[in-house]
Amino acid sequence: AKPTVAIVGRPNVGKSTLFNRLVGKKLALVDDRPGVTRDRREGDADLLGLQFRVIDTAGYEDEDPDTLPGRMRAQTMAAVREADAALFLIDGRAGVTPLDEEIARWLRSEDTPVVLAANKAEGRAAESGLLESYALGFDEPIAISAEHGEGIADLFQSLLPYL
Ligand code: GDP
Ligand code: MG
Repeated sequence: AKPTVAIVGRPNVGKSTLFNRLVGKKLALVDDRPGVTRDRREGDADLLGLQFRVIDTAGYEDEDPDTLPGRMRAQTMAAVREADAALFLIDGRAGVTPLDEEIARWLRSEDTPVVLAANKAEGRAAESGLLESYALGFDEPIAISAEHGEGIADLFQSLLPYL
């Protein structure tokens, strides 16, 4: 079976945009409003010739905290557990938020290896966010721009050991 990467992160950090870039098709709905990805989407990714299955998760995208332990969050957790790597996205322009920290705590408690990426990093706008993200406790974070296709080679290098 193909190796699998699950993209995780809080709402609006650009998970679906990255998913679409990796899959090369607009399979996931990109939207400014949090919570738009309602289910788990999967596709075949090609990253500089590295081929893997990619999952666009939605479990932390629900605005209602009462639903956090619900079905979608459980789906995200299952996706990460089954994945060969979790691609943890933050918004490099916004910096690290409390929800990023909560997700990081959960990811550290799982066995799946984590690659941390600060998205929206085009035009150096994410430099401080990238520095802040070291505090989340993973290996060296990478700066990417899902929208502009920057940092793709770094993403390749970071995922390669796990796929
Ligand atoms: P998701 O909720 O994590 O799936 O985020 P989306 O992929 O739906 O994107 C949320 C918003 O961020 C959309 O308006 C995207 O166009 C925008 N976005 C995604 N990637 C980038 C990026 O690399 N740079 C910038 N500036 N905006 C981005
Ligand atoms: Mg989405």
